[in-house]
Amino acid sequence: MIDFCDLTAEELAEWLKSQGEREFHAKQLIDWVYVKGVLDWEKMTNLSKDMREKLKSLVKLSVLELVRILPSTDLETYKFLWKLPDGSLVESVLICSGDRRTVCVSSQVGCPARCAFCASGQNGFVRNLRPAEILEQVLRINGWLAEKDERVSHVVYMGMGEPFKNYDPVVKSIRMLSDPALLNISQRRITVSTVGIVEGIKRLTTEGLKVNLVLSLHAPNQQIRQKIIPYARKYPLDTIMEAMDEYSQKTKRDITYEYTMIAGINDHPDHAHELSHLLRGRQCTVNLIPYNPVLGIKLKRPDKKAIKSFRSVLFGCRIPNTCRYTKGDDIAAACGQLALQQKNADEAAPLVKLGT
Ligand code: SF4
Repeated sequence: MIDFCDLTAEELAEWLKSQGEREFHAKQLIDWVYVKGVLDWEKMTNLSKDMREKLKSLVKLSVLELVRILPSTDLETYKFLWKLPDGSLVESVLICSGDRRTVCVSSQVGCPARCAFCASGQNGFVRNLRPAEILEQVLRINGWLAEKDERVSHVVYMGMGEPFKNYDPVVKSIRMLSDPALLNISQRRITVSTVGIVEGIKRLTTEGLKVNLVLSLHAPNQQIRQKIIPYARKYPLDTIMEAMDEYSQKTKRDITYEYTMIAGINDHPDHAHELSHLLRGRQCTVNLIPYNPVLGIKLKRPDKKAIKSFRSVLFGCRIPNTCRYTKGDDIAAACGQLALQQKNADEAAPLVKLGT
């Protein structure tokens, strides 16, 4: 069996040809799945019954089973927990903000990066996701939104996993998401976040893509970075910054630097000065995220005064910055928590039903 969402439009046409079918059926199938959001062969009424039967025996339309949807109390954030065919669990998050409908996708089951502050890194790495398993997270949420006459407008690769440690499937899924024939999401509305996998940043620079790149910096220097991001030992900060600069110059995209503020580790005004020095002259924004405590991790969130002092140093040094506070049921710092909880206590019932 092949997975429908693993195939680009061209690969689908080729595959149909190899099966002795006419290539124009590719357009019909794409219309059903990507435009109408139909994931049921029986509903594809402009295909002959014989063809539907044949496709059913050869092609799997859907690989994700919805376990549950967990809405935040303000109904602005929805966590979707999915079960994969091998029983692994991954999650996606839908963030509704104004007209934006942003889906944060997972690219791996677990994560090899093991960042000190992150729930996803706690249980280590299980496996890479295939393009279909990444793409379908967006497709299914798009179907859910369609019931409210809405659609996914932005996609961020910031869920479970380090995207550049699953490079080819991630890039294939980006090409498919942005293909006008498929989901037609502008590349400028797609963001990839990395902890600084240099070979991945360099490869992305040569792909001819116009996606946004985010570096999870989290420290103003190599020494502190090594303490909280194990991969930092392999990828020195100056080499990462060089690769990020090259990406920015080649694609004309500004870079965002994510900085999780952790009390007593990286939140002193001296760290803010050091960070300003590191970023001076670079077209960028710093996104500060006060650490959101995770069960079992002994790190603390800085108090409001420390955050204010840190920001005033950045402002004084003219480093554009934003600060995103997270709540207990909010997305970022809780990445991977839902999947871990579910794994530990396999008990949850669906809270919200996913539409067809
Ligand atoms: S923060 Fe991102 S890269 Fe680091 S362990 Fe968590 S999921 Fe992996």
